[in-house]
Amino acid sequence: MQGKVIIITGASSGIGAATARLLAARGAKVVLGARREDKLQALAEDIRAAGGEAIYQVLDVTRQADNDAIVQLAQETYGRVDVIFLNAGIMPSSPLSALKTDDWHAMVDINIKGVLNGVAAVLPTFTRQKSGQVIATSSVAGLKAYPNSAVYGGTKWFVREFMEVLRMESAMEGTHIRTATIYPAAIHTELLHTISDPATAAGMQALYQTHGIAPERIASVVAFAIEQPDDTTVSEFTVGPASQPW
Ligand code: NDP
Repeated sequence: MQGKVIIITGASSGIGAATARLLAARGAKVVLGARREDKLQALAEDIRAAGGEAIYQVLDVTRQADNDAIVQLAQETYGRVDVIFLNAGIMPSSPLSALKTDDWHAMVDINIKGVLNGVAAVLPTFTRQKSGQVIATSSVAGLKAYPNSAVYGGTKWFVREFMEVLRMESAMEGTHIRTATIYPAAIHTELLHTISDPATAAGMQALYQTHGIAPERIASVVAFAIEQPDDTTVSEFTVGPASQPW
């Protein structure tokens, strides 16, 4: 971990923020991206006050230019990029019959195209270096079907397919890019704030109040994936509350 340059998208809260704190505490140089600048600034200051190294830049993952710019910032500041954690996401779940088509499209733009844009931004660097690691946050909703999650789950199933093929093609091309995909279950973050359907929000609140665990649990798994030897990929982790049955 020591000295690794690690870009984190969706770093302003929840899993991304907890991961930034942990990786920086273990010696990584973290490059934080999200839309809310005040949150990024406060987090970067906290990390520095604790003796860590952090910079940030406002990033909307739906814009390719923003993704390119944060990779460029990392390169200019630290000279390389070792890991990108593609974690930004939203979960405005609802039944299809509610026809929340704006939410459907926003999930595709952020959860799918955001991942594509991040990989497009970093792949030339990783290919040139013949090393690098892409870590992405999918979901247990990317492993099995849940009512109200047709679109959200679909975006997370996409991440699974995409990451596995990235791993395969990189191995075939000899560029040695490691991948890891995380499938969290109920984690206490700001994610439920993105649900606009009241009935779905109430159901999810109840589930999370009963079962939710802290985002630091995910951070430690991300750290585990990074800390494996350079010749070793640990591709997939399902992580959730021991009490959550589905
Ligand atoms: P949060 O809502 O706390 O964090 C989401 C992060 O994504 C925020 O930092 C937000 O920052 C960022 N984000 C959202 N839209 C954009 C955008 N267009 N561009 C850049 N950043 C964006 O929730 P989590 O920490 O839970 O979410 C992190 C990931 O974990 C998501 O991909 C989510 O789907 C996944 N996940 C979470 C689970 C859970 O139970 N919490 C379970 C399974 C998966 P900002 O608003 O400042 O841009």
